[in-house]
Amino acid sequence: MSKFIFITGGVVSSLGKGIAAASIGKLLEARGLRTTIIKCDPYLNVDPGTMNPYQHGEVYVTEDGAETDLDLGHYERFTNAYVSKDSNITTGKIYYSVIMKERRGDYLGKTVQIIPHITDEIKDSIRKVSHDRDVDVTIVEIGGTVGDIESLPFLEAIRQMRWELGESYALNIHVTLLPYIRSAGEHKTKPTQHSVGRLREIGIMPDILLCRTEKAMDQEQREKIALFCNVDKEAVIDACDVKHIYEVPMVFKKEGLDDLILKKLHIKSQDNDLRDWQDVVIKRLKYPEREVKISVVGKYISLPDAYKSIYEALVHGGIANNARVFINKIDSEDLERDKDLARSLNGSKGILIPGGFGTRGIEGKIRAVQYAREKNIPFFGICLGMQVASIEFARNVCGLKGANSTEFDQDTKYPVISLLEEQKNVKNMGASMRLGAYACHLLKNSLSFRSYKKENVLERHRHRYEFNNKYKKFFEQNGMLFAGMNTENHLVEIIELKGHPWFVACQFHPEFKSKPERAHPLFRQFIAAALENSH
Ligand code: GLN
Repeated sequence: MSKFIFITGGVVSSLGKGIAAASIGKLLEARGLRTTIIKCDPYLNVDPGTMNPYQHGEVYVTEDGAETDLDLGHYERFTNAYVSKDSNITTGKIYYSVIMKERRGDYLGKTVQIIPHITDEIKDSIRKVSHDRDVDVTIVEIGGTVGDIESLPFLEAIRQMRWELGESYALNIHVTLLPYIRSAGEHKTKPTQHSVGRLREIGIMPDILLCRTEKAMDQEQREKIALFCNVDKEAVIDACDVKHIYEVPMVFKKEGLDDLILKKLHIKSQDNDLRDWQDVVIKRLKYPEREVKISVVGKYISLPDAYKSIYEALVHGGIANNARVFINKIDSEDLERDKDLARSLNGSKGILIPGGFGTRGIEGKIRAVQYAREKNIPFFGICLGMQVASIEFARNVCGLKGANSTEFDQDTKYPVISLLEEQKNVKNMGASMRLGAYACHLLKNSLSFRSYKKENVLERHRHRYEFNNKYKKFFEQNGMLFAGMNTENHLVEIIELKGHPWFVACQFHPEFKSKPERAHPLFRQFIAAALENSH
């Protein structure tokens, strides 16, 4: 039976609970344990798929086609665990399920209540994942901050689980803020005391505190926190800021966090010093031999979380090439007005256009594609990035004036990107796109094949619109290579341009499958091409 680690957060949001959870997963996996993660999100949306990136950041897509919280992305990048539809539990999902049961008559005769029905549903959903995965440890991260009304049922559920399972089967880790007040020259422990106090009011006693701080704390503070918060001294962990998120497992390791967790959960395992991670990932991140600048042209540029997996995959591509990647973020709307594109690109050696929805900024993206195509700058288009690359090619190479996607112009004369019949009748916006892993067959004579070094790959999707096959032949005659196809449904997956040093655009999202020590092949080769670009 799986053991459980429950992770809560206090004081403020954005403390990096997701990265903490992923780093703990990494440490336990390195010690030979099988782990999985569950992210509990207290909002009422069934999934984040219908939310604007400004609300939520990136929507992370799993292999089985679930639209989930981006913290699951951290977990997949740090570990080899399998995450899927049921790894993200939301209040929306829980209530939906309970209300459906009530309508079916499953609770016949009873008053359906938050406690025990909602909390039981949460516990069942958590247990089901750990049971199905057959893991040693299930890490459960509770979204939100302790003290929020929304997260109370989740906290009550984990309180009950700990009570039922006992302390050697369930562990509470609380991530808290330890602010450093410069003018006073000291850390302040009061917010942490209050936050732990809040947890205790609802019956949860943290076993371990991860103290997020910008300056390392000293022994005296550690003792003070331990005494006031009722935890062991060695269980007060210094989670000091680091430059790269991939250093966090090393910081935790140095603090002895993995030994502590294993001791508290009564698990015996071999030690591991994370040498591989240190030698490949950290060394190359900190001391790369080369550097390269890449422009990312998108409409949610001001929000770092909106393209989280893209930015990480670029960093991974850098690690694979022993290079530091500087990301030059360009707002696509600015490119619509900007006369001097070269100035915006600011010495970038490659251009990437990520996924997106809606008309805003589209023409700016098309200009960026045109620039990359004409100036032989390595270009990587992803999802919407592939669609705008097709529109640009239609307009400026094939002479199809006014070509567009029907997403942006319903009446375009040349709908080079359009909806499949099955999408035309879709009424519900939630979970109704083409989602999750689909097969892609690669042409041997393509950059993509040379990157992947295999003919058949599986990649994750999240889109409604597709390349319109009516234009395929004509595009081919004009120099486009349809390098990747889904042969089952005859859908275009990857386009390339003959005669261009590196122009690859794919309908899927390769960024979701990239890892720091194993960069996605297309990201690896994109960075390699950018490093070779002498323009
Ligand atoms: N808006 C486009 C579509 O729905 C592209 C989606 C995306 O880039 N994820 O097909």
